[in-house]
Amino acid sequence: MQFCGTWNTPGQFAIFLDQLLKLGNKVDLPKESDKGIIVAFDDGEDTIYKYAFPILKRFNIRALVFLVVNYIGKHNLWDISMTGKRFRHLTWSQIFEMKKWGIEFGSHTMSHRNLTLMSKQEVEYEIFESKNVLDQKLGGCRSISYPFNRINQSIVETVSKAGYEFGFGGDGRSLLMLKKEGMYITDTARTLRTKVLEKPAFLYRYDRLKQKVINFFTIATMLSRQRKGIC
Ligand SMILES: [Zn+2]
Repeated sequence: MQFCGTWNTPGQFAIFLDQLLKLGNKVDLPKESDKGIIVAFDDGEDTIYKYAFPILKRFNIRALVFLVVNYIGKHNLWDISMTGKRFRHLTWSQIFEMKKWGIEFGSHTMSHRNLTLMSKQEVEYEIFESKNVLDQKLGGCRSISYPFNRINQSIVETVSKAGYEFGFGGDGRSLLMLKKEGMYITDTARTLRTKVLEKPAFLYRYDRLKQKVINFFTIATMLSRQRKGIC
């Protein structure tokens, strides 16, 4: 879901990655013993393949991308650009190519609905089935990102039962409720530096994971995403 400003331009993204490396951060996939930064993308739109993937390759940075399984290869229903075009999601062939290079994929559920407003049965389907599909297609799925950051205790228990190792979204009290630091169009290299360096360390001190999570929602060109008052 994209709210006003929850996207970044490719130029901005390249500056952010450059800045993260210049600050001496190790940027990598979730690892239990390492300090450093995790770069994560929600929603799995194909702009990640078109714009972010070449930049990630240029900087040799592996990232985590969360897929809405029902939308793989399709257009989403929740956002329309200025040109009236719906955004397309990554196709399986794009996903396979990115995975081969080292990008990791996690679940953003089946349908990207608010899990806290669903029945227990529906929640189980969203959590278990998305993991099943990704396990089968990609040989593993250890992470989930909660749509709209909406969770409760019962959802976290279901995620644990399904066998996920990491849950992204929440207040950071456990590995299934990892806190994400969102990057927005209004962010600059300076605000990124503040988010990475000056946030109190306790916000990120999990049981076994010491990395900070920097979350990107989508990458788009300025041109296709310029809007007038549609936020
Ligand atoms: Zn989302």
